[in-house]
Amino acid sequence: MKVTRKITICGLVQGIGFRPFVHQVADRFHLKGEVCNNEKGVQILVTGDQAVIDDFYNELLHYPYELARIRSFKIEPHPLQKFTVFQIVPSPEGKTLNLPFTPDMAICKKCSEELEDPSNKRFSYPFTACVECGQRWAIAADYPFERAHTSYRDHPMCDSCQHEYTTLKDRRYHAQTISCPECGFYCWLEADKQPLAVTGEEVFKEAAEKLQQGQILAVKNSSGFLLCCDASNETSVNQLRTRKHRPSKPFAVLFPDMEQVKEVVHCAEKAAQELKGRVSPIVILPMRKKPERQLAFTALAPNLEHLGVMIPYNGILKLLAAAFGAPLVATSGNLHAMPVIADNQEALSKLAEVADVFLLHNQYIINPQDDTVVKFTPKHHRQIVFRRSRGLAPNYFDAPYTTEKKWVAMGGELKSAIAMIPNSYLYISQYLGALGSLETYTRYHAVLQRLQSMFRFTPDIVLADKHPAYQSRAEGKKLAGKSGAEFQLIQHHKAHFAAVLAENNLFDQPHDVLGVVWDGTGYGDDGQVWGGEFFRYEDHRISRLSHLEYFPWIAGDKMAVEPRVALLAMTDDPEVLKYLSEEFSREEWTVYQKLKEKNTLRSSSMGRVFDAVAALLKICHHNSFEGQAAMQLEALAEKADPEEAVAWNDLVADGDLNPAALISRVFNELQQGYSPEVLAMSFLKTLGRFIFKVAENYHFNHLAFSGGVFQNAILTDLVIDEAGNNYKLYFHKELSPNDENTCFGQLMYALNCKQEEDEVSG
Ligand SMILES: [Zn+2]
Ligand SMILES: [Zn+2]
Repeated sequence: MKVTRKITICGLVQGIGFRPFVHQVADRFHLKGEVCNNEKGVQILVTGDQAVIDDFYNELLHYPYELARIRSFKIEPHPLQKFTVFQIVPSPEGKTLNLPFTPDMAICKKCSEELEDPSNKRFSYPFTACVECGQRWAIAADYPFERAHTSYRDHPMCDSCQHEYTTLKDRRYHAQTISCPECGFYCWLEADKQPLAVTGEEVFKEAAEKLQQGQILAVKNSSGFLLCCDASNETSVNQLRTRKHRPSKPFAVLFPDMEQVKEVVHCAEKAAQELKGRVSPIVILPMRKKPERQLAFTALAPNLEHLGVMIPYNGILKLLAAAFGAPLVATSGNLHAMPVIADNQEALSKLAEVADVFLLHNQYIINPQDDTVVKFTPKHHRQIVFRRSRGLAPNYFDAPYTTEKKWVAMGGELKSAIAMIPNSYLYISQYLGALGSLETYTRYHAVLQRLQSMFRFTPDIVLADKHPAYQSRAEGKKLAGKSGAEFQLIQHHKAHFAAVLAENNLFDQPHDVLGVVWDGTGYGDDGQVWGGEFFRYEDHRISRLSHLEYFPWIAGDKMAVEPRVALLAMTDDPEVLKYLSEEFSREEWTVYQKLKEKNTLRSSSMGRVFDAVAALLKICHHNSFEGQAAMQLEALAEKADPEEAVAWNDLVADGDLNPAALISRVFNELQQGYSPEVLAMSFLKTLGRFIFKVAENYHFNHLAFSGGVFQNAILTDLVIDEAGNNYKLYFHKELSPNDENTCFGQLMYALNCKQEEDEVSG
């Protein structure tokens, strides 16, 4: 007897070839029916013998693609319906979305081969993609994921693409982003406001020639613009720095292939897999002492021992890298501290003074994103996310919570991101940048509005950072007012701690957890500037245990930019002050001394301790980007013989650390002739000891780490070494330890922790 069944599969199942897969399996089982994407995932109606349908259903749940994240599935009876064939049918319109968004995926092997095959119709076609690869989120205006909801909407398929699209056995059967040179998009070059007379693959050859001549090229990539120049040409690289107003923040480098990558950096297996994987992020890798290929290393990554490496992850980059044949600088297409540009006209006007040539295309990028950036620790190969963006955001899976309400969390300020729970999923936007610039603030606002309109929801609760001056807090307050939502403020470092607890699913386990949350700044519950914090997590409560001893916080934001000011604030040691006074003009010295005397604001910022030590070792006098001094200090420590550097155990013997005493120690050892490299390493080892001293004093065996300081790969390895088998350590996994995670942490804190009376406000 024939029956009809309705099968619903929820999760990340759209835009990855799931419906074509369903059709192929149905054909194998000789079943008739239909499959469509809907607002929740994939829905199937199928008619046949009960036993055959059961086998079919089981087969579906063994879906082969690792990208699919099946959240739930069910099979239900349905009134008998007759079908003559099995087919994929259009999605129903206008329902409220309840699904994760498919991220952009790196080009697959088969598409790469087609791109390079002169006999293939997609030879040198920059937008070659299939059901398993290519853009998704970047070009999605709405969901369900259908061509009509993407930038491909106005590019109807040619007959040949239509044939592939409708052929069940074809690997582009029902590929929503199918296109070819005849019906798809094209690239062109512009210089001096004129299009150049080249087309097709000549565009990339001409672009390569311009790069060879030392010119700077703006490339419209698959999710926004990149700025490129010859990575071996020091003049070009420095020119790009000057024009972009980016004096020293390291540039990422695009290599044509893994062979060239290995000529320049050490690339362990885990890192190579990451580069070649579906996300294909920028991976920060250690440079070879004796590289087999010379690049303008000093200009690419001033005073650093690492290089951000990427390999081509789409047709555009493959064609460009192949035409040039050597490493290229590939940095976000924006001006300093502004969001990545994705629109042709905007690029032509805003980057007019930066780029000599523009490689443009006629595809509309709907959701611009930067590249994701990751690093692996040198010894234990633990992955640290520096920036979560293309290929990952805005999905986040497996967060521990239950709620019927709709939430928005506004995140931090310097590395802003937004998290929300508009349905049964939790989303975290990509890294959006420092809200201090109007452009970034506008982008932040636009992303919030865009996600809100896609999900068609108004929040019941809005969460924001406690800092009274954060724009994210002001924006949250506005949103709450407009939506009639409850508005709650969450302390910055508690949000960090909640984020790492959530990522490791620790809220309901029986052990108390020591939270080590170290970063630059965050507004404390006592109104002081926190940043070197220890917390206890116990039975859904987070309480502050101890912290780096307070030091004066002077000159506001200037202290974060000038390491010498951090050093001045931290020490009263006359010898150090004498040494330091050379770094100031007489006038400055008087002004800062006065500020220090009158100051009442105190800080426990670990980030500033890194700055002060860097200033003392004379390696960084100006932070031109957040965390610069800390990065240079890490690079310095990496050069030390680890055996030679010892932890200053006496400084942390009581489980406290006094920054003034630390500074005097570094200074004295410097005077005794210890090298800055060894002292940088001793400093990191002392911090490691500090953590375990606190853990011993308070009897913790479970330690969790968050905050920007834990982007430090050496410190992370030192902590893992010191823990041995005696401690269980928890780090961030998919999220960055830096402020990008606080939006998620705000949600996790509000949903999993009991708040103290005085904390609930707004
Ligand atoms: Zn493909
Ligand atoms: Zn076509």
